[in-house]
Amino acid sequence: MFYRDTWAQIDLDRIAHNVRHIKEHSGYEHLFAVVKANAYGHGDVEVASTALEAGATHLAVAFLDEALRLRAAIKHVPILVMGPVRLSDVALAAEQNIDITAHDIDWITQLAQYRGPVANVHLKIDSGMHRIGLTNAHALETANSLLSDHKCINLVGLFTHFATADGSKDYYAKQLKNVAEITAGIDLAAFKYVHQSNSAALLYHDAQPNTNSARLGIAMYGLEPNDSVSSPIELKQALSLHSRITQIKRIQAGDKVGYGATYEANESLKVAVIPIGYADGWLRYHQNRPVSINGKKYPIIGRVCMDQSMILIDETVKTGDRVDLLDDQCTIEMAAKDLQTINYEIVCSISDRVPRRYMRGGKVVSERNDRFGHVAI
Ligand SMILES: *Cc1c(COP(=O)(O)O)cnc(C)c1O
Repeated sequence: MFYRDTWAQIDLDRIAHNVRHIKEHSGYEHLFAVVKANAYGHGDVEVASTALEAGATHLAVAFLDEALRLRAAIKHVPILVMGPVRLSDVALAAEQNIDITAHDIDWITQLAQYRGPVANVHLKIDSGMHRIGLTNAHALETANSLLSDHKCINLVGLFTHFATADGSKDYYAKQLKNVAEITAGIDLAAFKYVHQSNSAALLYHDAQPNTNSARLGIAMYGLEPNDSVSSPIELKQALSLHSRITQIKRIQAGDKVGYGATYEANESLKVAVIPIGYADGWLRYHQNRPVSINGKKYPIIGRVCMDQSMILIDETVKTGDRVDLLDDQCTIEMAAKDLQTINYEIVCSISDRVPRRYMRGGKVVSERNDRFGHVAI
């Protein structure tokens, strides 16, 4: 239930379509559905369940809190925390059957002292992203020998992350070469899961040698990692964002709109108000951008407020009309271009003030309003 007419709609059929087709196309045995950041703003549990039904075999998140939240709802599927965890939290992760990432040689040396419930560990190699991970063969071999025969540690995975799978082919090739060099002294076949591909590598590159798994993020949501590269799969944008007009008024030449009075009417005009603003993730950068009402585009005028925004309309628009801020016409991709950012940031910005409504077969199947917890219909 929600009591303000602003909501995001997530078409779970589209998420299932994207997962199914990407899995088929890539041919990986194991597919980690990346549902960090509340599934890129789409809703973690809802997306995770749908992705698992559609062929994903594992879940992956950025940090332990996200994994624990998911674990409360989804019991028997492996969840990987891809970012670092505190050594003091390893036992908690292990108790909850949450896999952790070994990212640093000092951290790993200390982990070797770990005694507690058996922890599933994935070794992370830094092959060129220069974020987290082991940077050379010596560190990897040391880590492998410290952890592989450890009675409280189950070394299940090895992975790396690409910086340019959606861009520079040379740098991508360089990372593959680095992986080969860093892993030359260890037996990759000893790891149950070897994973490198993110969405961009899944869509734009062949499977890497010796890998059997991949991590699927943005493309699962129907968004291209890079929309200037042509994708082999028809991705379907799963999220749309909607509101309804709460008030319409006429203003005269010389009247101004919003904080700072930045918009001035040069003739008699009609203005509509909608209950969505920057606290909802409808950022101030959306000023002057189009939204769609009854299939026609109208601009946001004046500054976006914290809770409300104003739109320049015509005579055809009525109070209560639905406003489509992001949909198949006003796409997330277009918003990202206009805001000079990436589609990832547009969807992750939609805040938990905005209730999520889930669709299957064109019907509402559930709603999530983080003000009240999860309400099944
Ligand atoms: C976020 C993330 C992914 C998913 O990336 P997409 O580009 O969204 O597919 C994969 N691996 C790691 C380590 C990540 O942090």
